[in-house]
Amino acid sequence: MGSAASSIPRPVTGTLDSGRPKLTAERLARRTRQRRQIQSMIASCFVLDAAVLLLYAHAGTTSVLVATGYATTGLALVAAYVLLSEFGFHERFRDHYLVAPQSAINMVNLLVFTYLAPEVGVLFLCNLFVVFGFGALRSSARQSAVVWTIMVLGLAALFLGTNKPIAMPMGSMIDRLATMLVFALTIGRCMALGLFSSSMQQSLYQSGVKLKQAYRRIEELAELDELTGAFNRRCIMRMLEEEIARCARSGSTSAVALIDLDHFKRINDVYGHPIGDEALRTFAISMFANLRSIDRFGRYGGEEFLLVLPDLSQDQAVRALERLRVIIADLDWSAFSPGMKLTISAGVTTLRPHESSDTLLARADGALYSAKARGRNRIASA
Ligand code: GH3
Ligand code: MG
Ligand code: MG
Repeated sequence: MGSAASSIPRPVTGTLDSGRPKLTAERLARRTRQRRQIQSMIASCFVLDAAVLLLYAHAGTTSVLVATGYATTGLALVAAYVLLSEFGFHERFRDHYLVAPQSAINMVNLLVFTYLAPEVGVLFLCNLFVVFGFGALRSSARQSAVVWTIMVLGLAALFLGTNKPIAMPMGSMIDRLATMLVFALTIGRCMALGLFSSSMQQSLYQSGVKLKQAYRRIEELAELDELTGAFNRRCIMRMLEEEIARCARSGSTSAVALIDLDHFKRINDVYGHPIGDEALRTFAISMFANLRSIDRFGRYGGEEFLLVLPDLSQDQAVRALERLRVIIADLDWSAFSPGMKLTISAGVTTLRPHESSDTLLARADGALYSAKARGRNRIASA
């Protein structure tokens, strides 16, 4: 039951399923296996009930024919169902278990047997609970209502349309034992259905959690630069626009810095591109370790990064960048390759009232250019 439950993702209808994407052969085989599993459980129910009917027959309450007839009909239904399933008939429907039609057929079967053998009617009527509970697990409200209506009509015909003495045999000790077994089996089956239903719920809940995690990961991947883990250009630009809007609303100011790695082409040329990549990653990690949680750091392109520093004045931002410059310059870059050094230059500016991101970035870029022109490894203020 557990593995069947894990494959049941949603309440379904029994309608033809034409719009569904094609399933892989492996998935189709798994579904066939799950249907076989359910059918073997149903078959074992018929066999157990037939054994109880034989007890009643042994007590002389009913005929052996009732037991053999009930087992034969039940197993024939199971065989027909398995045969259809093996030929892929079930795959035409959205509910590939075909629970609703199967419940309806089993219900009619039980009502017919109650009519034919009312002297042991309690067994068939108790089974109605199980069949209806099983059907309700996978049926839509409309399908459940249809099956319930069939059952009520059948019961009305049986109870009101005939004068059959539907019995709960208690005449002898064997009768009492068989009747007790009927209730024991019914309660056990109801319990199994409850467990099945809760394992379905559990698996649905787990699928939901997994989906949420995957969605969050996709969102992260869409926002982060693969190499450095910093926000990618699209994301940092969106954050800059959000920061500009926030400043316009609150009247506060913010600083931005364009940071560029010095002579990075030379690092690649001398130490190789993979070392260049590692250096970029180490630079980014060092930045993360030294920024405030409200700062936003993203890769603007190549070895150029954009840093958004909310609520900082020009002086504060220059001091912050100066501190970062020293941290980067003081890192032990020779651990990557003997003699290696890496520094950064940055252009810092603050947002002016009603300014767009274009003019803000152009000013930061101008400051960066002057930092480079004045010999690199320095912070220039616009
Ligand atoms: P400057 O000090 O003037 O900035 O000199 P520079 O050499 O850093 O500037 P330039 O723009 O000439 O070269 C940038 C180099 O950065 C060239 C490019 O190969 C390298 N680069 C850009 N992105 C990556 C990357 O993802 N990995 C590596 N290893 N190198 C990169
Ligand atoms: Mg550079
Ligand atoms: Mg550059």
